[in-house]
Amino acid sequence: MRLIFYISLRMDLEALKKFREIEKAFSGNPYYFFRVFKNLRNKSPEKMLRFFQENKEEIKRKLLERKERIESLWKPIDSKFFREVERITGFPWKFEYYKAHISSVLPGCYEKYRNKISVFAFWRNVIPVIAEELIHLHYWDTLKEIGISERRNREFLWKLSECIPPLIWDEMDLGIKLRKYPSWNFVMKIFRKIKPIWEERKSYREFLLKVIKNEG
Ligand SMILES: [Zn+2]
Repeated sequence: MRLIFYISLRMDLEALKKFREIEKAFSGNPYYFFRVFKNLRNKSPEKMLRFFQENKEEIKRKLLERKERIESLWKPIDSKFFREVERITGFPWKFEYYKAHISSVLPGCYEKYRNKISVFAFWRNVIPVIAEELIHLHYWDTLKEIGISERRNREFLWKLSECIPPLIWDEMDLGIKLRKYPSWNFVMKIFRKIKPIWEERKSYREFLLKVIKNEG
């Protein structure tokens, strides 16, 4: 398994068209984006789109620079990361390789049941974002493998997905600092509740079945 990085201004422009959705996910303040594109604060999506089109080459150049930097940061942990997730969970990765879109717009997201993630190129600390999105992919594939239906408990399963990365990271030895807690405050309640179950689990599978059953 390995991670392949790429940039795509076409995908970024598509994402800009849906910027309102990103704004909503960040309670109206996608700070990560405006820290870099300060001039676009309070601009309409149309104006933002025009700015991106007019500065295409410059943005592409910066993206490529960041892509190379992120690639070199990720490289030393690449195979170990994938191996460690398999060791800790006991579930294999579904794909031979994964693709990371280094984006000038998207914060961090993943395409469920596929091998694709996107991460914002200019996060100060981008490696944990990559690791998180990849573990989300692994989590949903594992649920499917175990036979847990998404239709049941949709909201809980999503909140649980946000708790999984820090649990796995806690047992990983990658030589880099990853978050100890979920990125979103509103899942902290679930995180605290399941942490002891995680620590006493017999297996990842048993842990997942137990916490999901408790909820339903
Ligand atoms: Zn997440």
